[in-house]
Amino acid sequence: MKILLASSEIAPFAKTGGLADVCAALPVALEQLGHEVTVVMPAFRSALQYDRQLRKTDFQLSIPIKSQTLHAEVLGSSLPDSNVKLLLVDYPPYFDRQGLYRDEHQDYPDNCERFTFFSRAVVQLLTQLPGTIDILHCNDWQTGLIPAFLKLESNNASRFQSLASLFTIHNLAYQGLFSQHDMPATGLDWKFFNWRQMEYYGKLNLLKTGIVFADGLNTVSPTYALEIQTPELGCGLDGVLRERSHLLEGILNGIDHRAWNPRTDPHLFCNYDSENWREGKAKGKSALQETVGLPAAPESPLIGVIGRLSAQKGWDILTPVIERWANTREVQWVILGTGDPHFQRKLEALARNYPQRVAVRLEFSEACAHQIEAAADLFLMPSHYEPCGLNQLYSLRYGTVPVVRQTGGLADTVVNTTAETLATERANGFSFRDATTVALEETLDRASQMYQRQPNAWRQLVATGMAQDWSWERSAQAYERLYKKILSEKRHDL
Ligand code: ADP
Repeated sequence: MKILLASSEIAPFAKTGGLADVCAALPVALEQLGHEVTVVMPAFRSALQYDRQLRKTDFQLSIPIKSQTLHAEVLGSSLPDSNVKLLLVDYPPYFDRQGLYRDEHQDYPDNCERFTFFSRAVVQLLTQLPGTIDILHCNDWQTGLIPAFLKLESNNASRFQSLASLFTIHNLAYQGLFSQHDMPATGLDWKFFNWRQMEYYGKLNLLKTGIVFADGLNTVSPTYALEIQTPELGCGLDGVLRERSHLLEGILNGIDHRAWNPRTDPHLFCNYDSENWREGKAKGKSALQETVGLPAAPESPLIGVIGRLSAQKGWDILTPVIERWANTREVQWVILGTGDPHFQRKLEALARNYPQRVAVRLEFSEACAHQIEAAADLFLMPSHYEPCGLNQLYSLRYGTVPVVRQTGGLADTVVNTTAETLATERANGFSFRDATTVALEETLDRASQMYQRQPNAWRQLVATGMAQDWSWERSAQAYERLYKKILSEKRHDL
């Protein structure tokens, strides 16, 4: 198949979260299955800075936005260590800015226009790329208009009859919600601004637009695919999703085994594998303790936490537990995150008050993330919701036992330790259901007790996790099946 994947984030060119990791790794895995894949993203400043060798291509784009026609160039590169072509839509007034979506104070006021522009550029590229594209794979709200442009604009609908669009929801909470005054920027007729299509309580909703008009729909884990159809986790779109539930699939993300391999990871203080993880992790632990200023404590559990400082990640139930444990237990914490200043202040205070027990790094550091994954004994993710989650998969690969809330992809990947799951060798971590400090504390207690008192059981948990296959190859095969399905349904309907 010929596949065009459109995303605003592709690692390492531009990244704010897991979306970037997925859109970098999936295309490479699809290419290895024999498909021809091109990826397209905006030429953000971070991408221009990452790859200074970007070359100009012959593609020329003329994009109508409001009453003007804007001209853009397209730069070319490839994804690292692959033949996957990367195209970057280059329009500096929109994309050569400090942040992807916001400056340090607020979202850019012209975000709707910027991503309308990008979406129109992707559709126009379809007409210029050699050969016929079978699948246009769109990701999250930034590309939500693409399926609408394909379906609603008559010249596109006839021209791209045999192309099927897939829309992947990576996080339902980010919807690309704009004022109705932005509707004219999309260039679509006002008649589509209604509650069944593009409108959401008087606002323009680009994620909903993608959900409504795509030929196929998926999210990034089977449990999240069910959860988002409920009022609790549906973020107001559960009704729309229930209506399209016959299309909605859940495909777990994979992890990039080249970047996340403890045997070869260049960021680690000491490389290791499933044979010598005890020594490798012990060395990594003492080196990390020294680096972040914690006292050496080889026998105490070291708990790692990495993630955006946003309410989603459960910092509200976690910070009281850190405080209580810092006062009462021989346990150390190493925390890496950026985001909400409210949580930043809380974490800074914890690090200041308990320097022997709590180390906090408020930065985005790829190296530090790898070092924590390798050095920690337990990795904690008490998320309120988690579409897939990547860190628990990295933890499993690195022999770091995950402790997670049973939600979304965490529920699909972490098997809670019980007498039964241990006996059947399925246990690979610990999980809890209620989003409360009590449930979190009880589960962390179980986990740290096992770490300290049952070394054989612990060894088994680590071995089970390290032996599991979370590769992209598995996920790419599931996407391949889904592409084939939506393509045959689309062509059957012709
Ligand atoms: P989300 O997409 O909700 O942020 P995921 O677990 O799916 O969560 O992916 C987060 C990705 O971003 C992981 O690769 C994680 O290691 C990385 N990450 C998050 N915060 C940081 C940070 N402060 N420094 C380095 N990497 C980070």
